[in-house]
Amino acid sequence: MGESGKKKVVRTYCALEDGIMCGIRAHVEDGVLTKLEPGDFPEDPELEHICARGMCMVKLVNHEDRLKHPMKRVGERGEGKWEKISWEEAFDTIAAKFKETAEKYGEESVSIGTGGYVSSVLSMIFLKLTNAIQGTYLNLGGYGDAAGPCGDTTSFGSIFAHRYFQDIDDPGMYVLWGANYAETYPLRWRRIRDAKEKGVKLIVIDPLFTTSAAKADQHISIRPGTDTALALGMIKVVLDKGLEDRDFMIKYTVGPYLVRSDDGKFLRDAGHSEKYMVWDSITDSPRLADEEGVVPSLEGTYTINGVECRPSYQLLVDMTAEYTLEKTTEITEIPEEIIEKLALEYVEKKPVASCRGWGLQRTFHGDITHRAITALAAITGNLRNVSYPNIVLNRRDFVGVKGRQCRFMPIMNLYDAAIKGDPYQVKSLWMTQHNMVNQDSNFNKLVNEVIPSLDFFVVSELFMTTTAKYADIVLPASSFYECLGLSTTYELSVYPYLQLMQKVVEPMHDSKPDFEIACEVGKRMGFSEDFDMTAEQAIELLLSADHPSVKDVTIEKLRQGPVKAPMKDEGENWKFRTPSGKIELYAENLQAFGEELPVYKEPLESTRRPEAKKYPLNYFSTHTRYRKHSMFANVDWLKELDPEPVLEMNTADAKERGINGGDIVTIRNDRGKVRIKAKVHEGVRPGIVNIKQGWWEKDYIEGHHQMLTNSELNPSQCAVHEPNMAMLDNLVEVSREGGDE
Ligand code: SF4
Repeated sequence: MGESGKKKVVRTYCALEDGIMCGIRAHVEDGVLTKLEPGDFPEDPELEHICARGMCMVKLVNHEDRLKHPMKRVGERGEGKWEKISWEEAFDTIAAKFKETAEKYGEESVSIGTGGYVSSVLSMIFLKLTNAIQGTYLNLGGYGDAAGPCGDTTSFGSIFAHRYFQDIDDPGMYVLWGANYAETYPLRWRRIRDAKEKGVKLIVIDPLFTTSAAKADQHISIRPGTDTALALGMIKVVLDKGLEDRDFMIKYTVGPYLVRSDDGKFLRDAGHSEKYMVWDSITDSPRLADEEGVVPSLEGTYTINGVECRPSYQLLVDMTAEYTLEKTTEITEIPEEIIEKLALEYVEKKPVASCRGWGLQRTFHGDITHRAITALAAITGNLRNVSYPNIVLNRRDFVGVKGRQCRFMPIMNLYDAAIKGDPYQVKSLWMTQHNMVNQDSNFNKLVNEVIPSLDFFVVSELFMTTTAKYADIVLPASSFYECLGLSTTYELSVYPYLQLMQKVVEPMHDSKPDFEIACEVGKRMGFSEDFDMTAEQAIELLLSADHPSVKDVTIEKLRQGPVKAPMKDEGENWKFRTPSGKIELYAENLQAFGEELPVYKEPLESTRRPEAKKYPLNYFSTHTRYRKHSMFANVDWLKELDPEPVLEMNTADAKERGINGGDIVTIRNDRGKVRIKAKVHEGVRPGIVNIKQGWWEKDYIEGHHQMLTNSELNPSQCAVHEPNMAMLDNLVEVSREGGDE
């Protein structure tokens, strides 16, 4: 920390995004945050970075609309009538209401969801509190990032598999699948752009002509939700030309493992602890997969003890056989020659970095798409075992409360839990800095059914957000520049550093850090000893683990700057956390859903389904560089660049409906409607309309972008990991105001 007079500069990090955490130099004058700049990483200067959102945190911290004191609702929910209360009253009320709910409906009916800034102590203190009260901890990943982790859990046994695809060194080509990193992942985009300047080809597969597509060597426009079919068609091209990487398939995947035709399970030798079996091409007999000297077959049909068996690779080959270029083109609407060339480039330009983006995440079958791209990358030998930061924090000691254990629930299951008591009743909810109503699917269902089903709803936030408006108690939370915290530990972090979130300025107004709020409620719930701690003590506990990543790391050392984590490199001993220890391109547990292989399924709401007669347009709500989810929609600096919500639509679709740019249009489906200004251009594919998300309800002429999105649960995702919000699988119709509807 440097200081001169009343000015100082504090080294901290930007806690807006999981897995990124740019270093920040925060300038303070007379106790006021005045400017934010990139923080240094002496060993890795290329990591010095800040984006427009990061810089605009200075406006959020000092924003005049910040919540200034705790309040309780005095009118109806959502009516906007509030009364100022003391923190003591707020804490006592929350504790009393939680106890009342637990007594009436069971402890699990009290739920807590933690959004907000990225800090290990923040998420852990709320998990600890939920453990203490034996409530329900809401996993917020399903908000939009569950399909990838779900698909990767099947394939790799881990939700952290992106690094195998996109973090590979010196790729011969980048392919962005539904990823607009120029807007959504600035630092990674910088790496891609630097590589491109050195001649590395960049291809973007996206139904929209995004900012990333505009900078690419090639943009491949694809029919929404059909990327699985594209990957399968590309696999077929590779197989037809005999270009598959057989060594990779044998060494790292379940490709050679035999699958029984009678029950669809892997063939195992019960006499050898259920070990997997392969067909040995040397002895022409079934053998244990890990037996010395075995050379497994990838193809063929074999009868073993009267049961027909085939290697799972053969099943994948059989399944992809129908994805001829003609059929793949029919599904994806990508010309045959482009599909064929792309498939061949996946082989010629090895290693190809496949970046699987949020465009795939937010589709109903996005998990299968992730698996299909995994199959493509595996068959072409384009997965790499890259090193990753090996950071271990003392999580178990921290979150544990003796004899107490919470339940976990994906956010998507909250809807039925609150409304129908399925799988059990949730009656109280504390949402910390997650603008649920604004950002989660199906606004009207949340406002008209989920929230009214709750006996008690508390929100801690920086502003009176679309969600806070419906709360019973609103707590003013401090921003991450007003709190002490510690960076998180994701394997995929592009910043392999431990960084301290420093308290740069004192909490604004009468706000409090969420950590303190959680501790105060914990104490009042009867767990005084467990919650009698400061954030500093919590960080010290986390740093006390017996692990090289935190050896000799102290808060004092972190105050001086970031501490580089040791990198973990598994080298050739590439182990996966799947049941087989291999990449599972065949999933036994998904047979019931017909998804044991990454089959193509038509999107939930597609323009080829019968419902499209009434609602013929595919509705997207994509991210923008000007907002982080719903943050910054109220920041004037960014509103100068992106002043209001607009509906983007293709020229042909607009003409068909008599719509001109600037017209007020109504966009509707059975879930709701939005009135908004139209922006007509060629950057959206015909058949698609798009609203850049993050705007608040008050920013629209009428309605809200989430009023159009569905909240359907995908049963196979529920079985494997957690269901995803399919915010890109929605049909709508658009009409001009005053025109025919
Ligand atoms: S890229 Fe993400 S972490 Fe970095 S400054 Fe921008 S918002 Fe913050």
